[in-house]
This record gives sequence, structure tokens and C-alpha cells, in this order.
Amino acid sequence: MPTLNGIIERFRAGSVDDALWLYVSDDDNELTIDTPADLGCPDYNDETDEEIHPPGFTERGLSCTIEAHAVDASIKWSDRLSGERDNQAAAKIIQYYIRFDAWPESLDAPDPPPAEESLRRIHRAFADSLGAERPDTKCKRQNCDRGTVAMSVLCKRHHFENVKGVDYPFDD
Ligand SMILES: [Zn+2]
Repeated sequence: MPTLNGIIERFRAGSVDDALWLYVSDDDNELTIDTPADLGCPDYNDETDEEIHPPGFTERGLSCTIEAHAVDASIKWSDRLSGERDNQAAAKIIQYYIRFDAWPESLDAPDPPPAEESLRRIHRAFADSLGAERPDTKCKRQNCDRGTVAMSVLCKRHHFENVKGVDYPFDD
């Protein structure tokens, strides 16, 4: 069975049709150059809304992942990061792209934080940027005894909720 290494070599040789998609084996948690892989073009059944894969692919445990141009770009990105034609490094970058729909800044980059975690960080940074509540002022919201933050008639919590349109997610 073809492996990812062979597929990467085909890309390096420039002999891959743009319409193809990369299929890789479900069995391997980590993509390596030895992971069974193939290239094919999924079809679509309009009546059943089902994807139809090339003959034998499903039986071989292969799942459709990313388009040829994304594989090609991943290999080029990997070569730039590693400074050489390292197929094992390219396999890692391809896997990263399959998982996160992005290319990492370096070959050993950690997984990106999940979207929820990213949003929480953005919210935290915004809350912190509002500064301290001024004790000699009072938030305009009813039943709120907190002071206001700079440039606002509201306390930090209420100003945050007013701007962001979501409940204040922190305890302070
Ligand atoms: Zn308030």
C-alpha cells in the first residue's frame, strides 16, 4: 500500500493533480512517513447527501483529509521551516494542518489553544485593560455598588458586558 512518504515524493515531483485529495489511514494517531495514504477524488451523491470515496479506499481504512493544494503548501511550509527536504517533518506539518487548519510557526510548535481558551484570554486582556474601578464613583446600573472604570459610567463587569454582549466570565 502507498505510504505518506510516497505521496510527499509525488508532490515534490510536481505530478499531483489539483483536484485530488489526501486520504490517510485512520489507524495511526500520529502521521508519519510510513502511514498508509493515497490520493483520490471524493464524489458526492446528491440524492443521499453522501460522499463517495474512490473504490477500495474505505476498505483500506483511508479517510479523506485535505485538498492537494493544501498538502503542497504544507510541504513547502515544512521545507522552509526545516531548511531541507525532510519528509518526516512534512508529515508533521500536514498533520498539524489537518487538525488545526493552520500552519505552525515552528516544527516543534505546541498545539494551538482551543477556541474557548483563546476567547477567554482575549476577554481577560480586555477586562484588564479597563483598569481599576474608581472608589469615588458609582456604576450606573441599578443595584450595583461598584465604582466605574475610566471612560465609562459603568463598573468593570457591566462595562464589559455592555461592550462584549456576553456575561462577565470572571470572578473579579
Ligand atoms: Zn456595575
